[in-house]
Amino acid sequence: MAANTGHTSGSAEATTARPPMVSLNAINKHFGENHVLKDISLDVAPREVVVVVGPSGSGKSTLCRAINRLETIDSGDIKVDGVSLPKEGVALAELRADVGMVFQSFNLFAHRTVLDNVTLAPMKVRKMKKSVAEAEGMALLERVGIGAKAHQYPAELSGGQQQRAAIARALAMAPKVMLFDEPTSALDPEMVSEVLDVMVSLATEGMTMIVVTHEMGFARRAADRVVFMDGGQIVEQNTPADFFDNPQTDRARSFLASVL
Ligand code: ADP
Ligand code: MG
Repeated sequence: MAANTGHTSGSAEATTARPPMVSLNAINKHFGENHVLKDISLDVAPREVVVVVGPSGSGKSTLCRAINRLETIDSGDIKVDGVSLPKEGVALAELRADVGMVFQSFNLFAHRTVLDNVTLAPMKVRKMKKSVAEAEGMALLERVGIGAKAHQYPAELSGGQQQRAAIARALAMAPKVMLFDEPTSALDPEMVSEVLDVMVSLATEGMTMIVVTHEMGFARRAADRVVFMDGGQIVEQNTPADFFDNPQTDRARSFLASVL
């Protein structure tokens, strides 16, 4: 969590001393006739935790996917740590490695052990030596509470354990920012908190995070800012307390009434 996030305290130190970690400037995206991202601009400060909420179809996943170029955009500019995302090539692979992403479906490699899932990308993309990647991978698996599962296969893990493995895999690339797109939506209810707890501790340790979630308890606990999207636009944004207790628009009020 950002110790000082400018927009909450009134001090602009955190946001002016360094460039934003993620900067979206007037992003537009269409799928055919469907205008799914409409002039989205959003700066995320280093160490800031932004929770993105909004109804289904409002463009949250497309926004996440655009940030690491899993999806192209029609216009606008996306910067990560001050560098514009290139459209393709080696530079894209390197920049994408700066952005860790965790999806609703865990997307682990089924035929690789949990530890291999965590070490493959650092060895391939970051050119890390196997011994180093495995030592760091084990430390990450311990950190997310599944060190004992390192040599098992994904199918042998519960959903909550698989999602924690997916988080460890993303962290293994030492990303500058972590994106989470509804990371707990596919989990049985009793496994949601073990994943959210890992995310809260990441936030507390200062990871810059953009989190799409319907878990409003997580937003209240961990978010520095809540961004509410509807119809491809950012409709309002505020601190969690102000967003939940004092929404400014009818759209936010009716969204909150549907999820709380
Ligand atoms: P959310 O994550 O907020 O539910 P999405 O970003 O998934 O919203 O979708 C936003 C809009 O874009 C929706 O109207 C959806 O149907 C459309 N959409 C998303 N992905 C595609 C795609 N690959 N092709 C065509 N339309 C898409
Ligand atoms: Mg989505």
